[in-house]
Amino acid sequence: MIQITALPAFTDNYIWLLQDHSTQRCAVVDPGDAAPVQAWLAAHPGWVLSDILITHHHHDHVGGVERLKKATDATVYGPASESIPGRDVALKDHDRISVLGWEFDVIQVPGHTLGHIAFYHQGHLFCGDTLFAAGCGRLFEGTPEQMHHSLSRLAALPADTLVYCTHEYTLSNLKFAAAVEPGNPDTAARLEKVTAQREAGIMTLPSTLALEKLTNPFLRVDETSVKEKVDERNGTQNRAPSAVFAALRAWKDKF
Ligand code: ZN
Ligand code: FE
Repeated sequence: MIQITALPAFTDNYIWLLQDHSTQRCAVVDPGDAAPVQAWLAAHPGWVLSDILITHHHHDHVGGVERLKKATDATVYGPASESIPGRDVALKDHDRISVLGWEFDVIQVPGHTLGHIAFYHQGHLFCGDTLFAAGCGRLFEGTPEQMHHSLSRLAALPADTLVYCTHEYTLSNLKFAAAVEPGNPDTAARLEKVTAQREAGIMTLPSTLALEKLTNPFLRVDETSVKEKVDERNGTQNRAPSAVFAALRAWKDKF
């Protein structure tokens, strides 16, 4: 039995903490800062940090790795094609790793960065800055076509999959989603719920793929409502899903 909780970092990052209570070993995903992890370890004597999973090379995801490695014997897993400090195991698409007794599939998801990977284990997806709750990562290195393909791969996972992304961007993402689909009742309901959660200081993650498919415009580029909105704004017609995606991403960048 693995328990998953979030350690907040910086202003809107979450470092996911996986705890195996049978062995008192734990793992973290994308520790951009070592301090919250070290504070947790100090407050929980007996627990050992055994593994560090990294999705991509951005500082807010890898900034704490070297300090944590010095302080523990943790093994660092990260994408093979990016420069990851302290990486012990270089991962590529379709690799499999075992962490705390869980088998994770590695899914290459280029777009936000070119080497970005996601980790999937039976209903649990750690996807870094690729799929966000109600949104997706910015295209710093990849093309819209790459990101669209990456999101399609994630969307093909089971609907009840829990989505553990790295940032608390849900509210601003939903405001954009509501602008894209003003007539989507699921988006309106989620915006209302998330607004209340954020006012109360409650985190909005993890999400589920089922909810993302209903409310995340970047997973809904095949929907008539989304296509028509993009056509209406850009004066285009009948665009391919990846072109609809590209137009949405460009709109969101300026929203
Ligand atoms: Zn990033
Ligand atoms: Fe990030």
